Amino acid sequence: MTTVDTAAGRHALPDLTGHFGPYGGMYVPETLVTPLLELEAAYREAWSDEGYRNELAAQLRSYAGRPTELYLAERLTRHLGGARIYFKREDLLHTGAHKINNALGQALLAQRMGKTRVIAETGAGQHGIATASVCAKLGLECVIYMGAVDMERQALNVYRMRLSGAEVRGVQAGQRTLKEAINEAIRDWVTNVRSTHYVLGSALGAHPYPMMVRNFHKIIGEETRRQIQEAEGRLPDELIACVGGGSNAIGFFFDFLEEPDVRLVGVEAGGHGLSLGEHAARFEGGRLGVLQGCKTFILQNEEGQIGLTHSVSAGLDYAAIGPEHAYYRDCGRIQFAYATDRDALEAFRTCARLEGIIPALESSHALACVMKRAPEMDPDSLLVVNLSGRGDKDVQQASRLIEAGSGGES
Ligand SMILES: *Cc1c(COP(=O)(O)O)cnc(C)c1O
Repeated sequence: MTTVDTAAGRHALPDLTGHFGPYGGMYVPETLVTPLLELEAAYREAWSDEGYRNELAAQLRSYAGRPTELYLAERLTRHLGGARIYFKREDLLHTGAHKINNALGQALLAQRMGKTRVIAETGAGQHGIATASVCAKLGLECVIYMGAVDMERQALNVYRMRLSGAEVRGVQAGQRTLKEAINEAIRDWVTNVRSTHYVLGSALGAHPYPMMVRNFHKIIGEETRRQIQEAEGRLPDELIACVGGGSNAIGFFFDFLEEPDVRLVGVEAGGHGLSLGEHAARFEGGRLGVLQGCKTFILQNEEGQIGLTHSVSAGLDYAAIGPEHAYYRDCGRIQFAYATDRDALEAFRTCARLEGIIPALESSHALACVMKRAPEMDPDSLLVVNLSGRGDKDVQQASRLIEAGSGGES
Protein backbone atom coordinates (compact mmCIF):
# COMPACT_ATOMS: atom_id res chain seq x y z
CA MET A 1 0.00 0.00 0.00
CA THR A 2 1.37 3.38 -1.02
CA THR A 3 1.54 6.01 1.66
CA VAL A 4 0.95 9.71 1.17
CA ASP A 5 4.17 11.56 0.67
CA THR A 6 3.15 14.93 2.02
CA ALA A 7 5.33 15.92 4.92
CA ALA A 8 2.69 18.06 6.61
CA GLY A 9 -0.15 15.68 5.74
CA ARG A 10 -3.68 16.13 4.50
CA HIS A 11 -4.39 19.23 6.58
CA ALA A 12 -1.69 21.21 4.74
CA LEU A 13 -3.66 20.96 1.50
CA PRO A 14 -4.57 22.92 -0.46
CA ASP A 15 -1.53 25.23 -0.29
CA LEU A 16 -1.84 29.01 0.05
CA THR A 17 -2.66 29.37 -3.65
CA GLY A 18 -5.42 26.79 -3.41
CA HIS A 19 -3.48 24.01 -5.13
CA PHE A 20 -3.38 20.29 -4.43
CA GLY A 21 -0.05 19.63 -6.14
CA PRO A 22 -0.59 20.80 -9.73
CA TYR A 23 -4.40 20.71 -9.39
CA GLY A 24 -7.01 23.18 -8.15
CA GLY A 25 -6.17 26.88 -8.00
CA MET A 26 -8.20 29.95 -8.84
CA TYR A 27 -8.47 30.23 -12.64
CA VAL A 28 -11.09 32.95 -12.85
CA PRO A 29 -11.61 36.39 -14.43
CA GLU A 30 -10.22 39.26 -12.40
CA THR A 31 -13.66 40.38 -11.20
CA LEU A 32 -14.01 37.12 -9.26
CA VAL A 33 -10.65 37.14 -7.51
CA THR A 34 -11.65 39.59 -4.78
CA PRO A 35 -14.98 37.85 -3.96
CA LEU A 36 -13.18 34.50 -3.77
CA LEU A 37 -10.48 35.89 -1.47
CA GLU A 38 -13.15 37.49 0.73
CA LEU A 39 -15.01 34.20 0.85
CA GLU A 40 -11.83 32.36 1.82
CA ALA A 41 -11.11 34.82 4.63
CA ALA A 42 -14.70 34.67 5.93
CA TYR A 43 -14.68 30.89 5.77
CA ARG A 44 -11.38 30.55 7.64
CA GLU A 45 -12.56 32.96 10.31
CA ALA A 46 -15.89 31.13 10.74
CA TRP A 47 -14.33 27.67 10.74
CA SER A 48 -12.04 28.61 13.62
CA ASP A 49 -14.89 30.21 15.57
CA GLU A 50 -16.52 28.02 18.18
CA GLY A 51 -19.86 29.84 17.88
CA TYR A 52 -20.16 29.09 14.17
CA ARG A 53 -19.02 25.48 14.59
CA ASN A 54 -21.49 24.86 17.41
CA GLU A 55 -24.34 26.36 15.42
CA LEU A 56 -23.48 24.20 12.41
CA ALA A 57 -23.23 21.08 14.58
CA ALA A 58 -26.61 21.84 16.18
CA GLN A 59 -28.29 22.31 12.79
CA LEU A 60 -26.66 19.20 11.35
CA ARG A 61 -28.16 17.29 14.24
CA SER A 62 -31.65 18.72 14.52
CA TYR A 63 -32.36 19.73 10.92
CA ALA A 64 -30.26 17.40 8.76
CA GLY A 65 -30.38 14.30 10.97
CA ARG A 66 -26.73 13.65 11.91
CA PRO A 67 -25.09 11.44 12.93
CA THR A 68 -26.21 8.99 10.25
CA GLU A 69 -26.16 5.28 11.03
CA LEU A 70 -23.43 2.82 10.11
CA TYR A 71 -25.45 -0.22 9.05
CA LEU A 72 -24.28 -3.82 8.66
CA ALA A 73 -25.74 -5.15 5.39
CA GLU A 74 -26.08 -8.76 6.49
CA ARG A 75 -27.93 -10.22 3.55
CA LEU A 76 -25.76 -8.49 0.98
CA THR A 77 -22.70 -9.74 2.88
CA ARG A 78 -24.00 -13.31 2.81
CA HIS A 79 -25.03 -13.01 -0.84
CA LEU A 80 -21.56 -11.90 -1.93
CA GLY A 81 -19.73 -14.31 0.37
CA GLY A 82 -16.71 -12.16 1.28
CA ALA A 83 -15.99 -9.03 3.31
CA ARG A 84 -18.42 -7.80 5.95
CA ILE A 85 -20.23 -4.90 4.27
CA TYR A 86 -21.33 -1.77 6.09
CA PHE A 87 -23.35 1.13 4.65
CA LYS A 88 -22.72 4.68 5.84
CA ARG A 89 -26.31 5.92 5.65
CA GLU A 90 -26.10 9.43 4.16
CA ASP A 91 -29.31 8.48 2.36
CA LEU A 92 -31.14 9.02 5.66
CA LEU A 93 -30.35 12.74 5.77
CA HIS A 94 -32.97 15.44 5.22
CA THR A 95 -33.56 16.03 1.47
CA GLY A 96 -32.17 12.58 0.73
CA ALA A 97 -28.42 12.89 0.30
CA HIS A 98 -25.12 14.11 1.75
CA LYS A 99 -25.55 17.45 -0.05
CA ILE A 100 -27.28 19.06 2.94
CA ASN A 101 -23.98 18.97 4.94
CA ASN A 102 -22.46 21.48 2.53
CA ALA A 103 -25.62 23.50 1.88
CA LEU A 104 -26.09 24.10 5.61
CA GLY A 105 -22.46 25.02 6.17
CA GLN A 106 -22.40 27.50 3.30
CA ALA A 107 -25.81 29.05 4.03
CA LEU A 108 -24.80 29.69 7.65
CA LEU A 109 -21.59 31.23 6.34
CA ALA A 110 -23.56 33.43 3.92
CA GLN A 111 -25.69 34.66 6.80
CA ARG A 112 -22.61 35.39 8.85
CA MET A 113 -21.15 37.38 5.94
CA GLY A 114 -24.30 39.50 5.89
CA LYS A 115 -25.50 38.18 2.54
CA THR A 116 -29.26 38.10 2.10
CA ARG A 117 -29.39 36.27 -1.20
CA VAL A 118 -28.13 32.81 -2.13
CA ILE A 119 -27.69 31.31 -5.59
CA ALA A 120 -26.80 27.78 -6.62
CA GLU A 121 -26.61 25.59 -9.69
CA THR A 122 -28.18 22.18 -9.96
CA GLY A 123 -28.12 19.30 -12.43
CA ALA A 124 -30.59 16.66 -11.31
CA GLY A 125 -31.96 18.95 -8.63
CA GLN A 126 -30.50 17.38 -5.46
CA HIS A 127 -28.17 20.27 -4.67
CA GLY A 128 -30.92 22.74 -5.61
CA ILE A 129 -33.33 21.10 -3.20
CA ALA A 130 -30.80 21.02 -0.36
CA THR A 131 -29.99 24.70 -0.91
CA ALA A 132 -33.64 25.78 -1.30
CA SER A 133 -34.59 23.94 1.90
CA VAL A 134 -31.81 25.49 3.95
CA CYS A 135 -32.62 28.97 2.57
CA ALA A 136 -36.28 28.54 3.52
CA LYS A 137 -35.21 27.56 7.00
CA LEU A 138 -32.84 30.53 7.40
CA GLY A 139 -35.07 33.05 5.61
CA LEU A 140 -32.61 33.72 2.77
CA GLU A 141 -33.69 34.64 -0.76
CA CYS A 142 -32.79 31.77 -3.08
CA VAL A 143 -32.29 31.50 -6.85
CA ILE A 144 -31.42 28.17 -8.48
CA TYR A 145 -29.96 27.95 -11.98
CA MET A 146 -30.85 24.81 -13.90
CA GLY A 147 -30.45 23.81 -17.54
CA ALA A 148 -33.74 23.82 -19.45
CA VAL A 149 -33.26 20.19 -20.45
CA ASP A 150 -32.69 19.19 -16.83
CA MET A 151 -35.78 21.13 -15.74
CA GLU A 152 -37.86 19.08 -18.10
CA ARG A 153 -36.29 15.79 -16.99
CA GLN A 154 -36.62 16.68 -13.30
CA ALA A 155 -39.95 18.49 -13.20
CA LEU A 156 -40.82 17.14 -9.75
CA ASN A 157 -37.58 18.47 -8.26
CA VAL A 158 -38.25 21.87 -9.82
CA TYR A 159 -41.60 21.91 -8.05
CA ARG A 160 -40.01 20.88 -4.75
CA MET A 161 -37.58 23.82 -4.97
CA ARG A 162 -40.41 26.22 -5.79
CA LEU A 163 -42.48 24.92 -2.87
CA SER A 164 -39.59 25.88 -0.61
CA GLY A 165 -39.75 29.39 -1.99
CA ALA A 166 -36.81 29.27 -4.40
CA GLU A 167 -36.90 30.87 -7.82
CA VAL A 168 -35.75 28.34 -10.43
CA ARG A 169 -34.25 29.96 -13.53
CA GLY A 170 -34.00 27.84 -16.68
CA VAL A 171 -30.78 28.16 -18.70
CA GLN A 172 -31.13 27.96 -22.48
CA ALA A 173 -27.46 28.13 -23.51
CA GLY A 174 -25.42 25.29 -25.03
CA GLN A 175 -26.46 21.77 -24.05
CA ARG A 176 -28.87 23.32 -21.52
CA THR A 177 -27.60 21.14 -18.66
CA LEU A 178 -25.33 21.47 -15.61
CA LYS A 179 -22.27 23.10 -17.18
CA GLU A 180 -24.34 25.96 -18.58
CA ALA A 181 -26.20 26.33 -15.27
CA ILE A 182 -22.84 26.82 -13.50
CA ASN A 183 -21.83 29.49 -16.05
CA GLU A 184 -25.05 31.40 -15.37
CA ALA A 185 -24.60 31.13 -11.61
CA ILE A 186 -21.06 32.53 -11.93
CA ARG A 187 -22.38 35.39 -14.08
CA ASP A 188 -25.05 36.20 -11.47
CA TRP A 189 -22.46 36.10 -8.68
CA VAL A 190 -20.14 38.56 -10.44
CA THR A 191 -23.06 40.96 -10.91
CA ASN A 192 -24.58 40.70 -7.43
CA VAL A 193 -21.66 39.77 -5.23
CA ARG A 194 -22.37 42.38 -2.56
CA SER A 195 -25.68 40.82 -1.55
CA THR A 196 -25.15 37.30 -2.83
CA HIS A 197 -23.34 34.12 -1.86
CA TYR A 198 -22.86 31.34 -4.43
CA VAL A 199 -23.37 27.89 -2.86
CA LEU A 200 -21.34 25.61 -5.13
CA GLY A 201 -22.51 22.01 -4.86
CA SER A 202 -19.40 19.83 -5.03
CA ALA A 203 -15.68 19.75 -4.18
CA LEU A 204 -14.98 21.59 -7.42
CA GLY A 205 -14.56 25.04 -8.91
CA ALA A 206 -12.09 27.73 -7.88
CA HIS A 207 -10.36 27.88 -4.50
CA PRO A 208 -11.66 28.04 -1.74
CA TYR A 209 -14.62 25.87 -2.81
CA PRO A 210 -12.89 22.46 -3.02
CA MET A 211 -11.36 22.94 0.44
CA MET A 212 -14.51 24.39 1.98
CA VAL A 213 -16.88 21.77 0.57
CA ARG A 214 -14.51 18.98 1.65
CA ASN A 215 -14.42 20.32 5.18
CA PHE A 216 -18.21 20.51 5.38
CA HIS A 217 -18.40 16.83 4.39
CA LYS A 218 -15.49 15.38 6.35
CA ILE A 219 -17.87 14.66 9.21
CA ILE A 220 -18.96 11.62 7.16
CA GLY A 221 -15.57 9.95 7.61
CA GLU A 222 -15.13 11.13 11.19
CA GLU A 223 -18.41 9.50 12.19
CA THR A 224 -17.54 6.36 10.23
CA ARG A 225 -14.24 6.00 12.11
CA ARG A 226 -15.97 6.23 15.47
CA GLN A 227 -18.82 3.94 14.48
CA ILE A 228 -16.70 1.16 12.98
CA GLN A 229 -14.47 1.26 16.08
CA GLU A 230 -17.57 0.78 18.20
CA ALA A 231 -18.98 -1.99 16.03
CA GLU A 232 -15.79 -3.93 15.20
CA GLY A 233 -13.06 -2.55 17.45
CA ARG A 234 -10.85 -1.65 14.51
CA LEU A 235 -10.56 0.38 11.31
CA PRO A 236 -12.05 -0.88 8.03
CA ASP A 237 -9.93 -2.50 5.33
CA GLU A 238 -11.55 -0.63 2.47
CA LEU A 239 -13.82 2.35 1.82
CA ILE A 240 -15.73 2.77 -1.45
CA ALA A 241 -17.61 5.86 -2.66
CA CYS A 242 -18.94 7.17 -5.97
CA VAL A 243 -17.27 10.25 -7.47
CA GLY A 244 -19.09 12.94 -9.41
CA GLY A 245 -17.42 16.21 -8.48
CA GLY A 246 -16.08 14.26 -5.52
CA SER A 247 -17.69 15.76 -2.42
CA ASN A 248 -19.20 12.68 -0.78
CA ALA A 249 -16.07 10.66 -1.54
CA ILE A 250 -13.53 13.17 -0.18
CA GLY A 251 -15.73 13.77 2.88
CA PHE A 252 -15.81 10.01 3.50
CA PHE A 253 -12.09 9.42 2.82
CA PHE A 254 -10.50 12.48 4.41
CA ASP A 255 -10.21 11.18 7.96
CA PHE A 256 -8.55 7.98 6.65
CA LEU A 257 -5.97 9.48 4.27
CA GLU A 258 -3.18 8.94 6.77
CA GLU A 259 -4.21 5.37 7.59
CA PRO A 260 -2.11 3.43 5.07
CA ASP A 261 -3.88 0.15 5.81
CA VAL A 262 -7.27 1.51 4.78
CA ARG A 263 -7.72 1.16 1.03
CA LEU A 264 -9.70 4.02 -0.56
CA VAL A 265 -11.59 3.50 -3.82
CA GLY A 266 -13.49 6.13 -5.83
CA VAL A 267 -15.94 4.96 -8.47
CA GLU A 268 -16.67 7.04 -11.56
CA ALA A 269 -19.53 6.70 -14.03
CA GLY A 270 -18.63 4.36 -16.89
CA GLY A 271 -21.89 5.06 -18.76
CA HIS A 272 -22.29 2.89 -21.87
CA GLY A 273 -18.54 2.40 -22.27
CA LEU A 274 -15.31 4.30 -22.52
CA SER A 275 -15.52 6.21 -25.80
CA LEU A 276 -15.71 10.01 -25.45
CA GLY A 277 -19.29 11.15 -25.02
CA GLU A 278 -20.50 7.83 -23.63
CA HIS A 279 -19.31 8.14 -20.02
CA ALA A 280 -18.12 10.46 -17.23
CA ALA A 281 -15.00 8.59 -16.06
CA ARG A 282 -12.50 11.45 -16.10
CA PHE A 283 -9.55 9.23 -15.23
CA GLU A 284 -10.38 7.02 -18.23
CA GLY A 285 -9.43 9.27 -21.12
CA GLY A 286 -9.55 12.68 -19.46
CA ARG A 287 -6.60 15.09 -19.57
CA LEU A 288 -5.31 18.03 -17.57
CA GLY A 289 -7.24 21.20 -18.30
CA VAL A 290 -9.13 24.08 -16.72
CA LEU A 291 -12.89 24.16 -16.32
CA GLN A 292 -14.95 26.64 -14.31
CA GLY A 293 -12.08 27.95 -12.22
CA CYS A 294 -10.23 24.73 -11.50
CA LYS A 295 -7.29 22.85 -13.01
CA THR A 296 -7.96 19.13 -12.99
CA PHE A 297 -8.68 16.02 -15.11
CA ILE A 298 -11.28 16.89 -17.72
CA LEU A 299 -12.96 14.98 -20.53
CA GLN A 300 -12.16 16.96 -23.67
CA ASN A 301 -11.55 16.44 -27.35
CA GLU A 302 -8.21 16.91 -29.11
CA GLU A 303 -8.77 20.66 -29.48
CA GLY A 304 -9.48 20.99 -25.76
CA GLN A 305 -13.23 21.49 -26.21
CA ILE A 306 -15.08 20.10 -23.19
CA GLY A 307 -16.36 16.63 -24.04
CA LEU A 308 -19.97 15.54 -23.84
CA THR A 309 -20.67 13.13 -21.03
CA HIS A 310 -23.24 10.47 -20.27
CA SER A 311 -24.32 8.62 -17.15
CA VAL A 312 -27.54 7.00 -16.03
CA SER A 313 -27.11 9.06 -12.85
CA ALA A 314 -27.28 12.82 -13.33
CA GLY A 315 -25.21 13.46 -10.18
CA LEU A 316 -22.12 11.80 -11.69
CA ASP A 317 -22.55 13.31 -15.15
CA TYR A 318 -19.89 16.05 -15.26
CA ALA A 319 -16.75 16.50 -17.38
CA ALA A 320 -14.37 17.46 -14.51
CA ILE A 321 -13.35 15.79 -11.25
CA GLY A 322 -12.50 17.53 -7.97
CA PRO A 323 -8.79 18.53 -7.85
CA GLU A 324 -8.05 16.79 -4.54
CA HIS A 325 -8.98 13.44 -6.10
CA ALA A 326 -6.58 14.06 -8.99
CA TYR A 327 -3.81 14.75 -6.48
CA TYR A 328 -4.38 11.66 -4.33
CA ARG A 329 -4.65 9.52 -7.45
CA ASP A 330 -1.17 10.70 -8.48
CA CYS A 331 0.10 9.83 -4.98
CA GLY A 332 -1.45 6.38 -5.29
CA ARG A 333 -3.43 7.04 -2.11
CA ILE A 334 -6.90 6.86 -3.69
CA GLN A 335 -7.58 4.24 -6.34
CA PHE A 336 -10.22 4.74 -9.00
CA ALA A 337 -12.57 2.36 -10.74
CA TYR A 338 -15.67 2.86 -12.82
CA ALA A 339 -19.07 1.20 -13.06
CA THR A 340 -21.22 1.15 -16.19
CA ASP A 341 -24.89 2.13 -16.27
CA ARG A 342 -25.74 -1.55 -16.50
CA ASP A 343 -23.64 -2.52 -13.44
CA ALA A 344 -25.10 0.35 -11.42
CA LEU A 345 -28.67 -0.59 -12.26
CA GLU A 346 -27.98 -4.20 -11.31
CA ALA A 347 -26.53 -3.09 -7.96
CA PHE A 348 -29.54 -0.79 -7.44
CA ARG A 349 -31.90 -3.76 -7.79
CA THR A 350 -29.79 -6.13 -5.69
CA CYS A 351 -29.55 -3.66 -2.82
CA ALA A 352 -33.30 -3.01 -2.85
CA ARG A 353 -34.13 -6.71 -2.97
CA LEU A 354 -31.69 -7.91 -0.30
CA GLU A 355 -31.69 -4.98 2.13
CA GLY A 356 -34.96 -3.12 1.50
CA ILE A 357 -32.93 0.02 0.86
CA ILE A 358 -33.32 1.80 -2.48
CA PRO A 359 -30.03 3.58 -3.14
CA ALA A 360 -29.55 6.62 -5.38
CA LEU A 361 -28.28 5.66 -8.84
CA GLU A 362 -25.11 7.62 -7.98
CA SER A 363 -24.52 5.51 -4.86
CA SER A 364 -25.36 2.40 -6.90
CA HIS A 365 -22.08 2.93 -8.79
CA ALA A 366 -20.23 2.48 -5.49
CA LEU A 367 -22.37 -0.56 -4.73
CA ALA A 368 -21.52 -2.04 -8.13
CA CYS A 369 -17.86 -1.84 -7.11
CA VAL A 370 -18.68 -3.45 -3.75
CA MET A 371 -20.28 -6.35 -5.60
CA LYS A 372 -17.02 -6.95 -7.47
CA ARG A 373 -14.66 -6.36 -4.52
CA ALA A 374 -16.41 -8.05 -1.58
CA PRO A 375 -16.22 -11.63 -2.93
CA GLU A 376 -12.45 -11.20 -3.46
CA MET A 377 -11.95 -10.25 0.19
CA ASP A 378 -11.61 -12.37 3.34
CA PRO A 379 -14.78 -12.99 5.37
CA ASP A 380 -13.17 -11.25 8.35
CA SER A 381 -12.31 -8.11 6.39
CA LEU A 382 -14.39 -4.95 6.62
CA LEU A 383 -15.69 -2.95 3.68
CA VAL A 384 -17.64 0.29 4.15
CA VAL A 385 -19.54 1.92 1.29
CA ASN A 386 -20.85 5.47 1.45
CA LEU A 387 -24.53 5.36 0.56
CA SER A 388 -24.51 8.98 -0.55
CA GLY A 389 -28.23 9.27 -1.21
CA ARG A 390 -31.58 7.55 -1.44
CA GLY A 391 -33.10 6.39 -4.69
CA ASP A 392 -36.67 7.70 -4.41
CA LYS A 393 -35.80 10.28 -7.07
CA ASP A 394 -34.63 7.52 -9.41
CA VAL A 395 -37.48 5.03 -9.13
CA GLN A 396 -39.34 6.21 -12.21
CA GLN A 397 -36.24 6.20 -14.38
CA ALA A 398 -35.20 2.79 -13.05
CA SER A 399 -38.60 1.28 -13.74
CA ARG A 400 -38.46 2.52 -17.33
CA LEU A 401 -34.98 1.08 -17.83
CA ILE A 402 -35.82 -2.23 -16.17
CA GLU A 403 -39.06 -2.63 -18.10
CA ALA A 404 -37.27 -1.85 -21.35
CA GLY A 405 -34.97 -4.71 -20.33
CA SER A 406 -32.11 -2.51 -21.35
CA GLY A 407 -30.10 -2.83 -18.15
CA GLY A 408 -29.25 0.82 -18.16
CA GLU A 409 -29.09 1.71 -21.85
CA SER A 410 -30.86 5.02 -21.48
C1 LIG B 1 -24.78 14.86 -6.21
C2 LIG B 1 -24.67 13.46 -5.76
C3 LIG B 1 -23.49 12.70 -5.95
C4 LIG B 1 -22.29 13.22 -6.68
O1 LIG B 1 -21.68 14.33 -6.15
P1 LIG B 1 -20.29 14.25 -5.35
O2 LIG B 1 -19.92 15.68 -5.19
O3 LIG B 1 -19.32 13.49 -6.20
O4 LIG B 1 -20.57 13.56 -4.08
C5 LIG B 1 -23.43 11.42 -5.43
N1 LIG B 1 -24.49 10.86 -4.81
C6 LIG B 1 -25.64 11.55 -4.63
C7 LIG B 1 -26.77 10.87 -3.94
C8 LIG B 1 -25.78 12.85 -5.11
O5 LIG B 1 -26.94 13.50 -4.93
